[in-house]
Amino acid sequence: MTSLPIAEALQTLPSLRLTVEAHGLMAKKALGQNFLLDGNITAKIINLSLSKQNKASYAGDFVYEVGPGPGGLTRAVLSHDPRKLTVVEMDERCIAIMEDIKSKVGDKLSIINGDALQQNFAELDSAPRHIVSNLPYNISVPLLINWLKDIKSFASLTLMFQKEVAERIMAPINSKDYGRISVLAQLNCRIIKLLDLNPECFVPAPKIWSSILLFTPKEQPLSAAQIKKLEHLTTLAFGQRRKMIRQSLKSIPDIIAKLQSLNIPETYRAEQLTPEQYLALADII
Ligand code: SAM
Repeated sequence: MTSLPIAEALQTLPSLRLTVEAHGLMAKKALGQNFLLDGNITAKIINLSLSKQNKASYAGDFVYEVGPGPGGLTRAVLSHDPRKLTVVEMDERCIAIMEDIKSKVGDKLSIINGDALQQNFAELDSAPRHIVSNLPYNISVPLLINWLKDIKSFASLTLMFQKEVAERIMAPINSKDYGRISVLAQLNCRIIKLLDLNPECFVPAPKIWSSILLFTPKEQPLSAAQIKKLEHLTTLAFGQRRKMIRQSLKSIPDIIAKLQSLNIPETYRAEQLTPEQYLALADII
């Protein structure tokens, strides 16, 4: 490791494009690889995320990055002085790139060669913890659901999704995009869209646009039992979203009386219930 301050040490790294060339990093579709090689964009993502959190840096905080790839976001996070950044990556070629960065920044960077779906970040370090990721698109929703279930462990999630997935997450009631993930995400978090990125921002360019969302936990996180019941309820309701809820929820004992007690019309369809109404119903089933 060099003895330079982090920002200067990062300046001694080759550009992202040269890094990709030197490591022969051809993107693999199976790993959901679309790389961000423009340092201005990765810096903008992290700057926007921090400013929306009223933070000037990550000083004192632990950050986790899923799928660092060639390291654009990795560099941007490191330049904002985290207590430690831990990256989790499945591709050995990207691990080699992370080792190069580690040779410059030492213990500020911790590298895990593995599957992010198997990783429990809350076990690794103390709070405050942040997750940052340009997510592999094929596992973006399962990863988000894992983190939402444990949202009290995190100060923020800054995540890039395919634009249509981001729209589902933020969808309002009475829209075609409103569904299970909207209910779960909106009950647990305040969600802000930071940026839309066009396909040309990535190498290789995907067919569709991407969006970066910032999630910050609401004060009252849901309990594990509430989340379990919500998942059950929303699976039933949205599994038959064209049907009235008196039909789609009929396997729940006394459902008509329970809906009446909450003043929810039994003739509603899944997309007409607010996230708060789903929660109220989950609390009495
Ligand atoms: N962060 C980089 C960027 O913005 O240029 C790469 C983002 S790319 C969309 C997704 C990254 O996730 C790839 O580097 C890929 O190898 C990695 N990845 C895919 N599946 C993974 C998994 N299950 N666990 C950890 N990393 C994974």
